[in-house]
Amino acid sequence: MIQLIRGFKDILPGEVELWQHIERTAVLLFEDFGFKEIRIPILEHTELFSRSIGEDTDIVEKEMYTFSDRKGALITLRPEATASVVRAYIQHKLHSIDPVQKYYTIGPMFRRERPQKGRYRQFYQINAEVFGVASPLVDVQMVLMLMAFFSKLSVPDIQAHINSLGCPVCRVDFKSSLTGFLSDKTEHLCADCKKRSIKNPLRVLDCKVPGCKAVLSAAPLLAAHLCADCTQHFNTVTSRLSELKVPFVIDDRLVRGLDYYTRTTFEIQTGSLGAQNAIAGGGRYDGLVKALGGPDQPAIGFAVGLDRLASIVALNNADFSRRPDIFVAALGEKSQDMAFGWICAFCGEGIRAEMDFGDKSLKSQMKRADRLGAKYVLILGENEIEKGAAVLRNMATKAQNTILLPDVVQSVKEKIKHFERSTNLDG
Ligand SMILES: [Zn+2]
Ligand SMILES: [Zn+2]
Repeated sequence: MIQLIRGFKDILPGEVELWQHIERTAVLLFEDFGFKEIRIPILEHTELFSRSIGEDTDIVEKEMYTFSDRKGALITLRPEATASVVRAYIQHKLHSIDPVQKYYTIGPMFRRERPQKGRYRQFYQINAEVFGVASPLVDVQMVLMLMAFFSKLSVPDIQAHINSLGCPVCRVDFKSSLTGFLSDKTEHLCADCKKRSIKNPLRVLDCKVPGCKAVLSAAPLLAAHLCADCTQHFNTVTSRLSELKVPFVIDDRLVRGLDYYTRTTFEIQTGSLGAQNAIAGGGRYDGLVKALGGPDQPAIGFAVGLDRLASIVALNNADFSRRPDIFVAALGEKSQDMAFGWICAFCGEGIRAEMDFGDKSLKSQMKRADRLGAKYVLILGENEIEKGAAVLRNMATKAQNTILLPDVVQSVKEKIKHFERSTNLDG
């Protein structure tokens, strides 16, 4: 039997409703904040990622799914979304309509990392990007929007971790102090970092190898090298977050070695799942649009890891699956005919209706209605047709009503509307 590829997964009905709930929550909230959806391709020219993420990063060197297509073009399954959104912003000259653009996008990303529990090679993200705003207030808004998103999903114990990565001006100073610090410690660094410490020392900050992390715990801090403009930007972010009572900490070890990240960088962490876990991360990348051939426009974005988020929201045990409103149990050919007409009428009216297309007994049809969790069952057999009335059974209370056949569609619609009103009141 053919099985799925290692590191990939199916999201089956039963679980997928939870994902839909998370995605719907994001869409409604992000659109309130003025974001519009953008859909970008899954395949891009490899060069887009090697130029934006950087040649000597783990992602580009080891983790990308890169292929040559049948004509020999080098293409890559996107390992992240930002580069593609920036490409679209530049390619379609979206900045010429209005430099300020706010987008979100939801979809799969691909990285060939070592498979681990809860880590997939096709993983899902919600991304949001804002172009054309240099003000620190938009940094605050991005963090605020994420916090609102996670609290709507009842993610417990959320906290923002904030840092500043400075700008090219303050990095000159920092780079030389980092190089100095690393110079007599290269023997403790991994092979990649030995190269990086000379070529691009900022990349060492990103390394996940424990030995490198240990060395870096004593490394100089970027925060100590911020220029006056970057300091002011960061102070505005933190003071606004305090005013808005957003729970956050300044985390001066929070760094990204990615060249294009500048100034505010952040992660949202949750204490659920036993340990502190990042469920979203992002920051400013003021230099990227220009670096990819676009206008000199500042930008900021974030990515939410949907796989981990789904496993956290699942702990709340909420049921997001939609049960049938009505199951029509029809016995005999004539009844089946009438039933089919009714379910067609219901489904166009937003009522979730089911019937059994086989020639099953009443008992087995009732069993199936129960298994599907139907709220009502409408029973129609030869007897009922003779009497000119079907039986409507409320599956929770077991109460039964008879409904005249010509009134079925209308009466059932009213019952279900009433049912929804009363359960909404209960809830
Ligand atoms: Zn600066
Ligand atoms: Zn390393």
